[in-house]
Amino acid sequence: MLVKKIGIDLGTCNCAVFVPKRGVVLKEPSVVAVSLIENKILAVGERAKEMMGKTPDNIKVYRPLREGVIADYRVTQAMIRYFLRKILGYFRIFKPDLVIGVPAGCTSTESRAVIEAGISAGAKQVFLAKEPILSAIGAGLPIESSLGHLIVDIGGGTTEVAVISLGGIVSWKSVRIAGDKMDFAIAEYIRKKYNLAIGEQMAEKIKIEIGTALPEKEEKKMEIKGRDLISGLPRNIQISSNEIAIALSEVIEEIILAIKQVLRDTPPELSADIMDIGGILAGGGSLLRNLPKKISQSIGIPFKLAKDPLFCVARGTGAMLENLEIYKRCLVAKK
Ligand code: ADP
Ligand code: MG
Repeated sequence: MLVKKIGIDLGTCNCAVFVPKRGVVLKEPSVVAVSLIENKILAVGERAKEMMGKTPDNIKVYRPLREGVIADYRVTQAMIRYFLRKILGYFRIFKPDLVIGVPAGCTSTESRAVIEAGISAGAKQVFLAKEPILSAIGAGLPIESSLGHLIVDIGGGTTEVAVISLGGIVSWKSVRIAGDKMDFAIAEYIRKKYNLAIGEQMAEKIKIEIGTALPEKEEKKMEIKGRDLISGLPRNIQISSNEIAIALSEVIEEIILAIKQVLRDTPPELSADIMDIGGILAGGGSLLRNLPKKISQSIGIPFKLAKDPLFCVARGTGAMLENLEIYKRCLVAKK
């Protein structure tokens, strides 16, 4: 099948690529490996992630988009080129059109860098759209309506909160508090309470397996492995989901605070709509068990989890590619 249109979600944690009529065709970690001597990009995505923690000093493996900003043109270009190559192969007849999601706070210099990166990676045209708009479309919200819709996208590095009406963002906030901070909080909690050091990946595993935003009557338990901080030797402990609820409470409060701040900045007519309709949660971080319930309780309006929250932005790029005419007002920039 000929692919002429491709949507790319460059997330802080995961990248997803969408092809119209096929859906999400690729999901890879947003990781790159760079050789420091030649200053060359050695690997992108899954292959780079496999190198994590195993490289000599002269190779750096990192997540370039971790902070939510697209700071390095060269790396962005390498990532886009890698995705295009994986989907189109080396020899392509057509140059595809791309829709790329960028953070709502992306500056015009950053936007230009992403567009240039897309073109030099082999695209014919590059359209940029703001991530909250894309995740709202991907979550199935009728963004063109005059009703206010609240979308909260909790990713790895950032949480983006936005109120959308008439196809545009009315009020928004982006905070660097999301899935990564949850992992960090779990590791800190275990270090302090048990004198046990655990790695980032272990912390994430705990979060996904037994993590919860609210304490539960029926606790889940998990056996974990770490390094004793005093003896330096490996040690196993058992932890419970309710301990993780305590560990995560501060991070979750900060996410809730960001939502409250956006609601405070929202015109009263739109807040009234949101009170009626409720909010939508998207992004991988929103999959934390009981998070919608916890946020609903704290804010006092209902919050629901979007379908397939990890792929809302990617699906949004797909909807935009198929209806560029309809959505052209939502585009940030194009070339
Ligand atoms: P980004 O858009 O920033 O790349 P994603 O939307 O891909 O981020 O979400 C990645 C985050 O979601 C990671 O922090 C990951 O640990 C977290 N995550 C994925 N699945 C779950 C789950 N079932 N429970 C809690 N967190 C999850
Ligand atoms: Mg995302």
